Amino acid sequence: TFYGVDGTTCSILSYLSQIEDFCPPRPGRNRSALVWHQKLKSHTERVRTNQVYACVCFCTMSRFQAMVDRGGPLGELVQWADLGASLTILGHNVTLSISQHRLHRFMSNSPGRGGCPIQRPLTFDLIYTDYHGLAHLQGAMGLAFLHYKCRYRILDSFGTEPAFNLGNYAHSRGYKTLWGSWGLQPKQYMTMFPHTPDNSFLGFVSEEAMRLEMTEEELEPDIYKKDKISVVYGKQEYMWQEKSEYLEVISEELETHATVYQPPGHPSKLPSFIINHGLLTQEHFVRLLRRAKVFVGLGFPYEGPAPIEAIAMGCAFLQPRFNPPHSSKNNDFYKGKPTTRQISYQHPYAEEFIGKPHVWTVDIKNRTAVKEAVRAILQTEVMPFTPREFTCEGMLERVHSYIIHQNFCSTSQPTWPPVSVLRVYLGPLGDSCVSVCQRSSLVCEPALFHHLNSDATFSSTQEEVNHLFPAYKPWGQHCGLQQEPMLFSCAGADPLYRRLCPCRAFPPGQVALCSDCP
Ligand code: UDP
Repeated sequence: TFYGVDGTTCSILSYLSQIEDFCPPRPGRNRSALVWHQKLKSHTERVRTNQVYACVCFCTMSRFQAMVDRGGPLGELVQWADLGASLTILGHNVTLSISQHRLHRFMSNSPGRGGCPIQRPLTFDLIYTDYHGLAHLQGAMGLAFLHYKCRYRILDSFGTEPAFNLGNYAHSRGYKTLWGSWGLQPKQYMTMFPHTPDNSFLGFVSEEAMRLEMTEEELEPDIYKKDKISVVYGKQEYMWQEKSEYLEVISEELETHATVYQPPGHPSKLPSFIINHGLLTQEHFVRLLRRAKVFVGLGFPYEGPAPIEAIAMGCAFLQPRFNPPHSSKNNDFYKGKPTTRQISYQHPYAEEFIGKPHVWTVDIKNRTAVKEAVRAILQTEVMPFTPREFTCEGMLERVHSYIIHQNFCSTSQPTWPPVSVLRVYLGPLGDSCVSVCQRSSLVCEPALFHHLNSDATFSSTQEEVNHLFPAYKPWGQHCGLQQEPMLFSCAGADPLYRRLCPCRAFPPGQVALCSDCP
């Protein structure tokens, strides 16, 4: 059983990987397939002329396989599956590699006469992999690894900020981490949610989006009829530690359900008032969410797909606020991750891009605040909602746009998005360009930095290799321009600097795309 992956995606994956019986039969599967195909027919026809040969390296697959039945990182598998499905539907020629052995066969140089390796031209235009896969590729490809660097796309859930990405710079400025320092273009890293716009937001398709496209008659009657129940977000027991009091308050108002993996023979450590169903298949999980009024965040996992699915099924998502915020400085999960993000809630996307009435963020130590939030939710009508970027159309639109516009093999300055969409802001001291643009309901666009990074912008300037530049330092009236284009960074922030930021507008619900772009 492939948890978290819908029927269509599953069929496409099993076709790509030649695995029989990969997907359990499911009602509605054919219907979903039809929706995908009909909606995207026009896309596919347009794209055929730009068809790429893509290799999707499911490199973490072998590591994951043992964990999926126990509630392991299903979110990442959902994203891999949706990426494979999107590329296929968009008409590209996709090869799937789910083992190191197969990857080596695709990539390695064949031995020539006298034992000298023959450099085989790479048959793929694009290679989607992750940090582990990148290390395997380096081993398999030898010198060709660097030659084809511009073709890699790295699935990197939490993102890699530019300051961590350039080896020498990261080392000398204290940004060296386990995962960074590969020196790819920051946009080659593809994230699960739109974290810093320095990376490309790849995302995934929320399960329910498909159902929302069904007509009234096709939907089962009472499909969104809510019972007075909550479902807790947390598939593994360790996520529940020290949360009993918070859950007790919730269960005083609502019957509380869970889908926690229970190892055979191990007695449950969950509070006695919890109704645990064990880890459910996607279909049953979706059914449970459809009946629920509230989806309850415990604080971990951070930023997964399930809250987006719950909101798509008409649940309110109740989540903890973190004070102080979690970051790589104070939190084991973020330690070593190449990001300076400060996480103030379990699911920042839900809070910042969706908000009330779908998302309620509380201090979970404050019993009164939790109780009031639950009562307020019970009195609010929460309609099912899916941001466009998590619908199948939205994902296809985005993947298509990346394939058409992103070319990291060219040495010239990026020409997309065009300069006509540039909106320049000088931020306050200490703010990153991510926040500066966000405050004006815009998004920072790193591909536009080079238009601001010139003497014409500031009257007297100095050039420096510094991920905060272009910026203005009021003390000493110092204007700094960026010397290293790889360090243009939306994310960088420093209390001594006012960042000069390239912002742009975006269409509603699709932050990766550009409003008014040709
Ligand atoms: N999921 C599931 N069965 C369950 C609980 C979750 O199939 O009992 C699915 C859920 O629909 C989602 C996926 O698992 O698509 C990933 O969930 P989560 O947000 O927990 O992400 P993770 O922490 O696993 O990366």
